[in-house]
Amino acid sequence: MAWQGIEGHDAVAERFAIAAAQGRVAGSYLFIGPSGVGKSTFARGLAKAVVCQQPRPGLVACDACASCVQAEAGSHPDIDVVQKPEDRASIPLEAFVGDADHRMREGLCWRVKLRPAVGTRKVAIILDADTLLDEAANCLLKTLEEPPDGGLIILVGEAVERQLPTIRSRCQIIRFRPLGADVVLRVLEREAAAGGTAVDTAMLNRVAHAAGGSLTRARLLLDPAAVEFRAKLIGLLARRPLRGVELARETLSFVEAAGKDAPPRRARLKVAIDTAIDFFRAALRQATTGEAPADVVIAHAVAEWAVEAGEAAAILLEHSLDALDSVDRNANLTILVDAWTAILEAPRLATVGKP
Ligand SMILES: [Zn+2]
Repeated sequence: MAWQGIEGHDAVAERFAIAAAQGRVAGSYLFIGPSGVGKSTFARGLAKAVVCQQPRPGLVACDACASCVQAEAGSHPDIDVVQKPEDRASIPLEAFVGDADHRMREGLCWRVKLRPAVGTRKVAIILDADTLLDEAANCLLKTLEEPPDGGLIILVGEAVERQLPTIRSRCQIIRFRPLGADVVLRVLEREAAAGGTAVDTAMLNRVAHAAGGSLTRARLLLDPAAVEFRAKLIGLLARRPLRGVELARETLSFVEAAGKDAPPRRARLKVAIDTAIDFFRAALRQATTGEAPADVVIAHAVAEWAVEAGEAAAILLEHSLDALDSVDRNANLTILVDAWTAILEAPRLATVGKP
């Protein structure tokens, strides 16, 4: 049975259970791992268990006490969550220390120092910690340096390198790995059954294998339009020479079909860039180790492409990882798509110009 129903991270849960049993849960953690694997779900689950009034052995929330009910509803007064607003590139400073009129009389750094309203602990969860700008990070650092009694601060991000070294050194780092395809499949089956949809195991299995260990991505790929686009994109990526303009056109039409709101557009662009990353990574692996990709669509395309492609794949992979990094930081996705597809086309001339 997965810890508190959170699949795929039993080893991390066990670590916390042991720490809790020995009374040495630290005051601050940095959760690191790829997006969509359950880091923030785990952080919320941990917060619930920590504030639970009758926790079970293994740091498991009882799910029945008033604290558990409030934690589940997102309204527990001693659990504080901040995250990047959809329309911003980073978490605003005010979220930590209040606005100019209320400096250090509002905000997470102030609230976490208050006495717990219910039990003995207060938990602060900082999602999107990769986006912290220096000023906000430095305010948070002060709180980490003088941790409040009974305070538990959890930062959640994707890359350790994006944190200031001073923040890193104040936190215990917990790494979350991509989920196995079997875990993703299990969750998708459960969600389909709960949602009253007929469970098509073969389809869910394909999605689980294409999701790269991310549930967020798997859920996006349940959209038939996304699956169709992914196959089309892989075909375009496999084509030599790579045609940037066509790639940009197809990608933008997929992104724009999500409507006017930024979040679904960003999500679709991530599907596109993730697909390219999968493809180039598979090509690189096949060129260097001879190992064929598990995903049939990619395997087919890579087989045609990867004859002399190890070096090209490495360069294109790097450009695509950079582009993925930029999705949340760019307001203008069209410019990002144009730049990304242009640079995918360009290295062919600059670096890989072998006959
Ligand atoms: Zn409880």
